[in-house]
Amino acid sequence: MGLRLALVCQRNNNVPFLFESAAAAGHELVLIHAPGESAPGHLPAAGPLLELDVFDAPDAALDELEAAASALALDGILTCREEAVPWTALAARRLGLPGIDPSASLAARDKATMRARFAAAGLNVPRHVRLGPEDAIAPPPGLTFPVVVKPTGGYSSQGVIRVDGPGGLADAVERVRAINADDLRAYTRDPVADGVRGEGWGAVIVEEFIDGPEYVAEAFAVDGRVHVLSIGYKGDPKGPHFEESVYLAPPPLPAEAVSAVVEQVAGGMAALGLTEGPGHCELRLRGGKTPVLLEIGARIGGSGVSQFVVQESTGIDYAGLQFRQAAGAPLPDLPPTPEPHAAAGNWIIPLGGHGRLVEIAGLSAVAAHPDTRRILTFLDPGAVVRPYPAFTGYPGFILSRHADWRAGVDYHRWLA
Ligand code: ADP
Ligand code: CA
Repeated sequence: MGLRLALVCQRNNNVPFLFESAAAAGHELVLIHAPGESAPGHLPAAGPLLELDVFDAPDAALDELEAAASALALDGILTCREEAVPWTALAARRLGLPGIDPSASLAARDKATMRARFAAAGLNVPRHVRLGPEDAIAPPPGLTFPVVVKPTGGYSSQGVIRVDGPGGLADAVERVRAINADDLRAYTRDPVADGVRGEGWGAVIVEEFIDGPEYVAEAFAVDGRVHVLSIGYKGDPKGPHFEESVYLAPPPLPAEAVSAVVEQVAGGMAALGLTEGPGHCELRLRGGKTPVLLEIGARIGGSGVSQFVVQESTGIDYAGLQFRQAAGAPLPDLPPTPEPHAAAGNWIIPLGGHGRLVEIAGLSAVAAHPDTRRILTFLDPGAVVRPYPAFTGYPGFILSRHADWRAGVDYHRWLA
């Protein structure tokens, strides 16, 4: 029988994959959204909308949710919105529904806490320093340039800047501080709830630049056992800004590299206390060999793009697992390591600059290609795109499925 689940603050109203999974299973999604944000009521499985001030008045939002709970008859609550992960953990606890530990949810939102926990567990993390709002900006002891400067509580690469020498450090830190104060303020304030406080909230991190190709592992934990469902290639971005560009799974990694990634991911989930639910785990392979953890998000990635890639390349309904787990329903057996049977990808239509969007050319040829599964566009003609490191949004995604990795690489080359 279908479940009734609250989905909290979906970011991108044009990414349908979670909704399609829910509809296929007969679930209904109650769409919680913040004031001033819209909810994708047009997508399949969308049920009633509920406006709650999740980001600006989280405690009041919890009270309102609790008051509405019996009428809503929710079986579970979940989110794939990075900034909403801590509130959703608190909401699940408040309603007596399954959910992740609130302190684990905060650790997964704060890159400084995350690094401390990974390091304590003996995992590979970039060498780093955390600069609180009052800390002096000095070249980080023990770090050599290039370094990466970024917000401790950011997402979507907003304010992530590579700096090549000591001369550029102060400017980059000031830019990230400005992003913390403006764009990220509502999402990185100290969430005084349940006695849990974020340790590194609203700070800046300066860390070594890990040179090597980037990968993402889509993981799912059940009772503390971590299943790495898929590993995907994310390009080899060199900066200075880190716009997303490509996602293609499964890459032709040697077996030792796959095991090393799985080991870091499983260790990372455990170190954060993520014993249940999804983990969107980003790593770079230093020197092409050693996986170094960049971060783990306690959610399905890319507003549901990870659902597409996992399902198309492995046949596993990733979102379906999370829906069932959120309601405490039994789960199927899952493999511990990836078992792909096809390739799947996402190609992010590149902006290549800033200005006013006129047109995205060539989409009809893309639609006619047999490997194309979906074309999703997010910016309409006339949209004004601000210069990086500000983040306006991506023009669109092109999602595809291929017989194998090689065909996926050729297809992405053709798109480019
Ligand atoms: P966000 O939460 O904004 O996604 P990330 O830490 O994931 O922040 O950084 C975004 C991107 O910037 C990464 O996917 C990676 O490409 C690049 N990046 C971040 N930190 C480093 C690092 N220490 N070394 C190399 N690249 C990095
Ligand atoms: Ca990231």
